[in-house]
Amino acid sequence: MPIRMWMLDLAREQAPTRDHLYQYASIAQEAGFTHLGLYLEHRFAYPSTPWAHGKGAVTPAMVRDVASEFPSLEIVPFINLLGHVEGLIYTEEGKQYREELFKGLQACPSCPEFVDLCGKILDDTLQAFSSQIVHIGGDETAQLNVCPRCQEASEGQADPKGWLYARHFGALAQKVVEAGRTPAVWGDIFLEHPEALATLPQSTILFDWQYFSGVADTAKKLGFHGHQVVGCPTIHTYNAVWCHLKETEQNIRQVAADSKDLSGTCLTMWEGGLFGTYDTLFPIVDWAGKLLQGHDTGDLFRAYDEAGQGKWARLMADEIPALGGPFAFSKIRNGLKCRMLLYSNPFLAWMHHGEELNGPAGDEAFAIANKALQATDDEAYKLPAVFLRSAVEFVRMAELAHKEYALCQPDAAIGHIAPARYLFETLERTAKSAHTRIGGSLADIERCKAARLHVEKVMDRLRKYGRRELGYLPAFEVITNPRFMPHDQGCWWLVNQWANQ
Ligand SMILES: [Zn+2]
Repeated sequence: MPIRMWMLDLAREQAPTRDHLYQYASIAQEAGFTHLGLYLEHRFAYPSTPWAHGKGAVTPAMVRDVASEFPSLEIVPFINLLGHVEGLIYTEEGKQYREELFKGLQACPSCPEFVDLCGKILDDTLQAFSSQIVHIGGDETAQLNVCPRCQEASEGQADPKGWLYARHFGALAQKVVEAGRTPAVWGDIFLEHPEALATLPQSTILFDWQYFSGVADTAKKLGFHGHQVVGCPTIHTYNAVWCHLKETEQNIRQVAADSKDLSGTCLTMWEGGLFGTYDTLFPIVDWAGKLLQGHDTGDLFRAYDEAGQGKWARLMADEIPALGGPFAFSKIRNGLKCRMLLYSNPFLAWMHHGEELNGPAGDEAFAIANKALQATDDEAYKLPAVFLRSAVEFVRMAELAHKEYALCQPDAAIGHIAPARYLFETLERTAKSAHTRIGGSLADIERCKAARLHVEKVMDRLRKYGRRELGYLPAFEVITNPRFMPHDQGCWWLVNQWANQ
């Protein structure tokens, strides 16, 4: 029987309780999935890494409970053992494993202590999960062969990066085989270094993730040495204010069609942080599960009609992306979400999206967000609409403040951004409710708090320096930046490319 898996990213600060995991498992089972993947990274309480157990991490006991409650569903761990270990290398105990100082997300495959740690994490995983498939990660190792130790080890190799990668993952996959299980790895780095495939045990399954096309070409390359391949589409939420339904449907249909002769399909769902709301995506999971079983129930908007959220979904996934700019489909994390929340400076949203959001697109986005709020009674669905409306409102407040500031009218400028404190307070409450409701990001709550405090700090600066008290008027981009320094008129904290080093 082909693998039908739904993989859920818990690593972006998700903090699910046992009941939330039951809810996910029950949705997976009802949709007809055979496997539920839990993408963990550092969000699992491996007994070997007590120093890395962030608050709300999933525990081995929780996993065992879900597995015994849902015996027909295989609960598959997705751990990461080289790239995407940022949750380890940015801790005091874990920084010894990093490939580079204060940069990227990869550990060093030539660090013996890290290789040892990988073995222990894998042992913990084999102990906690009873699944046949054990996914050991391997994606996005962009920092291969950067440190002197790796360069020394790989000297003379025809493909040093591929050699380091194969040495590391070949051994880990072999360990899974020796435990009587089936190793799985992501395919992206093997596509770049195909010769590394030869070192993988024959039973290894390659997970071919292609979110903007099908897998017909890539799966052929990954299967060249006779390994099984699973096609992986995604739900396009990380690159949207909410979710791009049309592109999601297209990707799932294409990968599902291309995977007919493969070992199965794994629907991925990434980045519940930054106001991602997993419970608003359940209709997609249900629709995809049925599609993979051969039951085509129509388009994805119809799936939302059936969930009673059709009108809301059309507003958020049809009308909003059509406005373009920060709402349009893109291949990377949504810029408006990042600038509002991720960089501790929501004025970046004004700097980069001010022109669009202060024009007709902003008027329309604001009106659509309000309609979306009226179109649903469900707390989960209200959240993305509240975020959208708040982002537009904030950017508009900032622009009004900017205009007054440029005229040396700091009191009027302060009057325009003062309400932003309440806006971020409301977002903070919303983030708290998402945390309680579905195990949403704890960091999102803090991000909203930090944004509110930053607005207060900016108000204070405008009061102090908004009448040219420094002898000059810092640009609004500068005075609203967390690193602004009075009298550093030339912004030495910014002007060189090594400003972050
Ligand atoms: Zn290294």
